[in-house]
Amino acid sequence: MRYIPSRSLSQRALTYLARWTDEIRAAAPGDQKTVGDARWKASKQLKTLKEIKRVLERMNGPLGTHCMYCEYNEAAHIDHFEPRASDPLKTFDWDNLHLACDLCDSNHKRDRFLRPEDGVRPLSPRQDYPPLHLRMLPSGAIDALSDRGDWSVDLFGLKRLRGYREDQWTTLRVLIPAYADAVVRGEHQEAKKLAQTVRRGRFLSILRELLAAAQGPKYEVLQLRQVRRAIEARPEILRWRDAED
Ligand SMILES: [Zn+2]
Repeated sequence: MRYIPSRSLSQRALTYLARWTDEIRAAAPGDQKTVGDARWKASKQLKTLKEIKRVLERMNGPLGTHCMYCEYNEAAHIDHFEPRASDPLKTFDWDNLHLACDLCDSNHKRDRFLRPEDGVRPLSPRQDYPPLHLRMLPSGAIDALSDRGDWSVDLFGLKRLRGYREDQWTTLRVLIPAYADAVVRGEHQEAKKLAQTVRRGRFLSILRELLAAAQGPKYEVLQLRQVRRAIEARPEILRWRDAED
């Protein structure tokens, strides 16, 4: 999971969201979920919802239409981070809307939200800074650095895809030095292609982690000597992680 800075919607879309939220608020508390669900269903084909999807995809940067939680699967729909069942008034709350795949949302999160035993809140890629709570390891495992990180791994089922994350780490370890070599050889088309492959790759949180590790004290142990050299020769590589923030 990576940080996805928010962009603004058009005034027109925000006005519709506020109007629909007022409709839900006007219903009796016991009916708010039903009214919200019906309005959500009825709005799906409207311009406002299409604009929301488009802006979310733009916010997602190189990941485009992929899930904001697992960074891997194609997003199937707009997810309510805080489920409609838990707060119907968040049905049309712009900050509560994320792109999610079926596995993260429908299989794992479902209507769950706060951790049942102690009320810990999950991480929102739009409001929180996930690297403070989750560390991607070269093995593909995710190390939780906080209770919120731990609950998010559980809630979205992020332990899956471990093999894919491991492969991505290895791929980046090879591609980044290959880019620097291509630049030195003057093969600019090749360098451009390699840079594009790195930047468009899924799991951008792994790119961030790998670049930080290559500059850290354990770079030898992690077999990142070549990546470190590549960064020293071509410092623009560090800017590739900024695609996410
Ligand atoms: Zn997902």
